[in-house]
Amino acid sequence: MAKIGGMTGAPKLANRINVYTCRKCGGYTVTIEIHEGVTPFMLRCRASGREGDCCGMAESSYPSGEKPSWKPSWVPDPAWEWFKPVGSEYRKLNRAMREHVDKGGLDIRPISRRKSTL
Ligand SMILES: [Zn+2]
Repeated sequence: MAKIGGMTGAPKLANRINVYTCRKCGGYTVTIEIHEGVTPFMLRCRASGREGDCCGMAESSYPSGEKPSWKPSWVPDPAWEWFKPVGSEYRKLNRAMREHVDKGGLDIRPISRRKSTL
């Protein structure tokens, strides 16, 4: 692994789409990694666009990293982004999340505005 620590340095940019398929509702939670880091294999279903609407767990449908910024036509545009918290974002995290980030993990947030680069 590269050096760790959420406080220093700009995160390395990534542009990887991942699709999580819900075991309960069958919906897709589509995410994009905007920074390099570790994302989980399972995720709480966010297919509706909000966390908590469905209590199912969604499972990664294809491994991230294989096809950067590629997605099949049946996959909707990503609604969630994985990012590496730095600076004030990092300081807002609780201790468990800081440890997660220090180990190279990413945090998730809804994509509030569509970026022109996508
Ligand atoms: Zn679901």
